[in-house]
Amino acid sequence: MNLLDMVKEAGIVGAGGAGFPTHVKLQAKAEYILLNGAECEPLLRVDQQLMALFPDEIIKGFEAAGKFVGASKALIGIKGKHKKVVAILRERVEALQVGDFVEVRELPDIYPAGDEQVLVYELTGRVVPEAGIPIQVGCVVMNSETALNVYYASIQQPVIQTYITVAGDVPKPFTIKVPVGTPIIDILKLSGIEDFDNCAVIDGGPMMGPMMSSLDGYVTKKSKGFVILKKDHYLVRKKSVSIELAKRVNRSACEQCRMCTDMCPRYLLGHEMQPHKMMRALNYALTDVEGQKIAQLCCQCNLCELFSCPAGLYPKFANIHFKGKLAEENIRYTPKKSDFIARKSREYRLLPSKRLIARLGLSPFDKPAPMTEAEVKPEVVYISTRQHVGAPAVPIVSVGDYVEAGQKIGKIPEGSLGATIHASISGNIVEIEKDFIAIRRDEYAKSNRNG
Ligand code: SF4
Ligand code: SF4
Repeated sequence: MNLLDMVKEAGIVGAGGAGFPTHVKLQAKAEYILLNGAECEPLLRVDQQLMALFPDEIIKGFEAAGKFVGASKALIGIKGKHKKVVAILRERVEALQVGDFVEVRELPDIYPAGDEQVLVYELTGRVVPEAGIPIQVGCVVMNSETALNVYYASIQQPVIQTYITVAGDVPKPFTIKVPVGTPIIDILKLSGIEDFDNCAVIDGGPMMGPMMSSLDGYVTKKSKGFVILKKDHYLVRKKSVSIELAKRVNRSACEQCRMCTDMCPRYLLGHEMQPHKMMRALNYALTDVEGQKIAQLCCQCNLCELFSCPAGLYPKFANIHFKGKLAEENIRYTPKKSDFIARKSREYRLLPSKRLIARLGLSPFDKPAPMTEAEVKPEVVYISTRQHVGAPAVPIVSVGDYVEAGQKIGKIPEGSLGATIHASISGNIVEIEKDFIAIRRDEYAKSNRNG
């Protein structure tokens, strides 16, 4: 089996992103492979710790992936502020004698340093074209946890666990390894909070993560963290606004100051994304479809809504509004050129993470979230068949079957984009639905059989 087949068999998808199947990414030929270790979402602490705890595995997985895509250079991107981790990685690159190929590069502590296109620019000076992807400028990007999973795939270990940070207004922020399919509430309770009535939880980082409408969900391969805040926290109020209210506020108060555009990371890379124009189109009900198409260039980083706009408006929402409208009519933005140059003003308009964290009201919670040895042993795991971009996995087990942890339970449908899924614990299959496969842990299954 070559690396591609091993990665495909292991069910690896981009950890922490949209969950794009990694075996498909590895089919490209690239000049650079880039490791995204920026972890720019405030409070999340997974990647920086994985790189310190498993440097050899991550470097080896990353190197193997880089060689597979034919890259001539493999660049590890990590924020320079993580001095100790940078030193560990550099030392291990030397010790593993891969220094000719793998290089550690320091990133500035800005938001959103981990946006794929910002990362490509910071590490290579190349700008991904509008509406494009990194391979168009010869780059393949992978996250540090994904590189770790590539290493495990090379020793025949599929993705059955993931790392999660629980942070925010909690007594004990922490990072933990849990089986895929673990009930989220089991993890949240380890924070020291028992009663969640007065709390709101963000699924993911504070900037891009959505508010959870219920805590009944289950961890997927893409889960990276949960941020717990009081219900009356500024960020919770801001993120919980209804579409109707956002529309009303947007209509009444936009002064067209352009701050949202001037700080937009995609605009600063030389793209045409200009959220103030979307606000204008929304507020004056402009019908120029050509002008609305730039909404499709938004990466939804939320910087305009949560930092730039002095009036506290919702320019990202305006983009989403037009994106939705255009998608309904199957209208796509077409770039007018293929070469892009970052705007000269970019270097003066980068947003330091500390300023962002202060603006979000998160400074009191900007603390370490150390890796814990605590073990979560859920009685039942619910393995989603849709943890990735593409078609849902097709179950290859039946209710009543006994499965071992690591056993394949769902395959990629023939001829489709997708990812395999595996049992994250040993036990009996107790339920199969369109969206999930449930497994009851071995000891519970056994005690039930005996009882
Ligand atoms: S949305 Fe806010 S930042 Fe953008 S132009 Fe209007 S007032 Fe200015
Ligand atoms: S969310 Fe706002 S700042 Fe971010 S890319 Fe979209 S328009 Fe630009």
